[in-house]
Amino acid sequence: MTTTDAVVIGSGPNGLVAANLLVDAGWSVVVLEEQETAGGAVRSDSSVAPGYVHDTFSSFYPLAAGSPTIRGLHLEEHGLEWVQAPSVVGHSFPDGRWGVLHRDRGETAAGLEAQAAGDGDAWLALCDTWDRVGDDVIRCLLSPFPPVRGGAGLAGRVLRPGGLELLREMIMPARALTERLFNGEAARMLVAGNAAHADISLESPGSAAMGLLLVLLGQTVGFPVPRGGAGELSGAMVRRLESKGGQVLLGEKAEGVRVDGGRAVAVRTVSREIPVGRAVLADVSAPALYGGLVPWDDLPTRLRHRMSRFEWDPSTVKVDWALNGPVPWEGAPEKEPGTVHIGDSLDDMTLTGSQVAAGLVPERPFMLVGQMGVADASRVPERGEALWAYTHVPQQVRGDAAAGHEGVRPVHGTWDEGDLDAMAQRLEERIESRAPGFRDRITARRVLGPHQLESMDRNLVGGAINGGTANLQQQLIFRPVAGSGRPETPVKGLYLASASAHPGGGVHGACGANAARAALWHHKTRTLWRRS
Ligand SMILES: Cc1cc2nc3c(=O)[nH]c(=O)nc-3n(C[C@H](O)[C@H](O)[C@H](O)COP(=O)(O)OP(=O)(O)OC[C@H]3O[C@@H](n4cnc5c(N)ncnc54)[C@H](O)[C@@H]3O)c2cc1C
Repeated sequence: MTTTDAVVIGSGPNGLVAANLLVDAGWSVVVLEEQETAGGAVRSDSSVAPGYVHDTFSSFYPLAAGSPTIRGLHLEEHGLEWVQAPSVVGHSFPDGRWGVLHRDRGETAAGLEAQAAGDGDAWLALCDTWDRVGDDVIRCLLSPFPPVRGGAGLAGRVLRPGGLELLREMIMPARALTERLFNGEAARMLVAGNAAHADISLESPGSAAMGLLLVLLGQTVGFPVPRGGAGELSGAMVRRLESKGGQVLLGEKAEGVRVDGGRAVAVRTVSREIPVGRAVLADVSAPALYGGLVPWDDLPTRLRHRMSRFEWDPSTVKVDWALNGPVPWEGAPEKEPGTVHIGDSLDDMTLTGSQVAAGLVPERPFMLVGQMGVADASRVPERGEALWAYTHVPQQVRGDAAAGHEGVRPVHGTWDEGDLDAMAQRLEERIESRAPGFRDRITARRVLGPHQLESMDRNLVGGAINGGTANLQQQLIFRPVAGSGRPETPVKGLYLASASAHPGGGVHGACGANAARAALWHHKTRTLWRRS
């Protein structure tokens, strides 16, 4: 095969963003994807029930809509259409009350104020700060760390009035922050529920970051979804790439990266070896790259030591349902939210998180729920709903917090059919308790446990969805190992481009963009050096 400038291993959002930036710079690019469909954890399918489109993994894309890089790809010109649910996020409480993040901040504030005096103004004040510094905070968070080129100017802008305080709030524990900012559970749980998208306990520093980021993005750009299914976002990235000469080879698993003289020079698949002229960008997990695609012999010993401390994030069980009517929520908000969080209180969330940390399958799982028909009617038959819910479970199960409870089927952690069925029932009961009659509307169901998730995308190791824990010990210069934070690897011309790299999980494309920009920069400096 002829030499290509760059090979991107993996067509997740990070791989596709990286490939697009490289073709924009005039490079020839081949993307290798093991699965028969491109997109990684951004795909959709119709296998739950005919006429229903379900997102196989991720669904809501505030991080993509807020990402300067993804916005800069102008994917609308390649068929992407963002659509939004009537309201952004709803937190359902056991007594039928709701905390609602509306599209309009005044409406959000009014709803929060009605539940606890003072929370409306507190919400508006937070939004004001975000208006001033939000864009710069996003750029700062999504840039390589420590920021080098252009980073100083950016840091200066973030430190404008309000910016430093916002950054301080982001590194606070979500419980401490929300209890300080708000008087009522509705506002607190909107932030805490969004914090649960990362795996940091509500009492640990850094947990407020994801909560604040998602609610404030939710308030400004919403939680958009691609019309027709998550796969339309990946589809638009593939079409854009191909329109500029890039290639995506499906069903092509990379088996190894050949290193010669300390530089990545080729990528091996089962059927061929592709010579690489400039760079290899690996949208694979850090443990799959180091000591996997690149043997330890080609890597420094200290990296091997550091990788032995790499921590995965918890596992996941996701259930998809086809419903023949909307979810009959008690006290449903007039403007229905696309995303619903189910957790009784901060204390309940803390207990659930502790159970997962202790290796126990939670008794009353905190649930993230997506009403995809509410967000995008094109995905369901009339009055139908394509619902999903997922929850986190331990990577290594030591027991079930609900074992011995009357009427509860225990989960053993083998994640065989029996476990998946028992877990799905637990989630269904939790929804039924908020929406009596929900179960009667189920016409089809699919349960994806840790094994299924990993078999459909090998980056989701053991059902981990974020490429490694988001806890502070594995963030910034510690991601994926101490001394990183940037996409460069010890092998010249090889870059880590997946969510295992800073800034981690979520569909923002920053890990891929950082890798592509580093590859372009190094190639440019190498070329100039050779000429001089
Ligand atoms: C159930 C679930 C729900 C989520 N919900 C959301 C959400 O709503 N919003 C959000 O922003 N984020 C969400 N996320 C997280 C988000 O999807 C991921 O962080 C993101 O997809 C990571 O992108 P990536 O490109 O790093 O890797 P991935 O998307 O995992 O893609 C990696 C790709 O590389 C391929 N690959 C791996 N190894 C090889 C190899 N050796 N050869 C060839 N190909 C290979 C895989 O097949 C895969 O296609 C969710 C994730 C999951 C699993």
